[in-house]
Amino acid sequence: MKANCWMGTKKMEVQDVPDPRILNRHDAIVKISSTAICGSDLHMYNGLLATMQRGDVLGHEFMGEVVEVGPDVKNLKVGDRVIVPFPISCGKCYYCQEGWPSICENTNPNGWMQEALWGHATAGVYGYSHMLGAYAGGQAEYARVPFADVNPLKVPSDVPDEKVLFLTDAFPTGYFAADNCEIQPGDTIAIWGAGPIGQFAARSAFLLGAERVIVIDRVDYRLRMAEQAGAETINFEEADSVLDVLKDITGGRGPDACIDAVGMQASGGGILGALDHVKQAVKLETDRPMVLREVMRAVRNGGRISIVGDYIGIIDNVPFGAVMNRGITMRMGQAPVQRYYHQLLERILNGDMDPSFVATHTLPLSETPKGYELMDKKEDGCVKVVVKPGM
Ligand code: NAD
Ligand code: ZN
Ligand code: ZN
Repeated sequence: MKANCWMGTKKMEVQDVPDPRILNRHDAIVKISSTAICGSDLHMYNGLLATMQRGDVLGHEFMGEVVEVGPDVKNLKVGDRVIVPFPISCGKCYYCQEGWPSICENTNPNGWMQEALWGHATAGVYGYSHMLGAYAGGQAEYARVPFADVNPLKVPSDVPDEKVLFLTDAFPTGYFAADNCEIQPGDTIAIWGAGPIGQFAARSAFLLGAERVIVIDRVDYRLRMAEQAGAETINFEEADSVLDVLKDITGGRGPDACIDAVGMQASGGGILGALDHVKQAVKLETDRPMVLREVMRAVRNGGRISIVGDYIGIIDNVPFGAVMNRGITMRMGQAPVQRYYHQLLERILNGDMDPSFVATHTLPLSETPKGYELMDKKEDGCVKVVVKPGM
């Protein structure tokens, strides 16, 4: 089959690779109708995620038709139309039972690599480095789906792919970010990043009762998209100080909750930010925490910080005193997609949310590398790229 492979920094190639096979009695094989490129894929594209190997198949947002099931799969049958969440959950361990599929104890055979860095291991994720399990991803014609009884979600046949595809990651991730803000009526929520995750976080914050949502980015067409959902916006390159603007428009107090939907590839941040770029390039620091620093100082006293932007390792110059002394609550994580996907499918079917607004580009599988370039450079009005292997 054809698949989009990581061949090195900024080097993606669509290649012929072996078809996936059932390896475990609980596996299924899905023929992919649509798959997407995530902001997280850009970490590998830009060579920032260790433990990648040439030829690794990328992609963790995909959906399609079940074409084969292992003998122990009971809930799925050939012909079912499913979306496949990015964290691979066993469904049975302590964390899966507690609603934390993204920190499943059983699905990452390479968890020992994470233990060395993080102390404990997390769930495996499709197409997301060897440290996260070395699973082949879904930017391909077919994918092997482990624990097929618990992970894929069946979706109705009459809903277009673009409406349900983002249940695999971006919509639940944005919703999780907003949910972690513990929104109260009247709250103001500030969101850094107007990429797909920030867009879904903004819309989810309104769904969960926020009165005001303020989105911060420097890419104007992305800020316009957030405004269409009713958000106010700040272009951080045009503001002397985002902190001051936020204070000004919230009566001096600051937002009730702040979401970091940017993570390790942030820009801006003045001299300290420039230093982060250099340190990341020479591997003295794994992540660029400009947004994290800003969020920690911007949130109101006693407020909440929600982090979904990806960080992988070590960061410098983090103003921890700002959150300790001011009574801030911080919540974060890789989105526990399976905790939310039933209720979010309901929200799509009842018209509360139509996630297709975020899909600005549709490409055939052969042009996936071009999709990465568009996403990375934020060119041509690109917010989210959908790839169709059958196109
Ligand atoms: P994206 O690259 O499309 O968007 C990131 C946006 O942040 C860009 O529009 C960029 O201009 C903006 N930005 C950069 N520096 C900024 C700054 N200083 N202030 C404000 N905005 C700034 O990516 P995305 O798909 O929206 O993903 C966002 C982040 O979420 C990534 O780190 C991704 O890895 C992560 N992610 C996490 C999860 C999870 O489960 N926690 C799931 C999906 C994605
Ligand atoms: Zn993702
Ligand atoms: Zn588990």
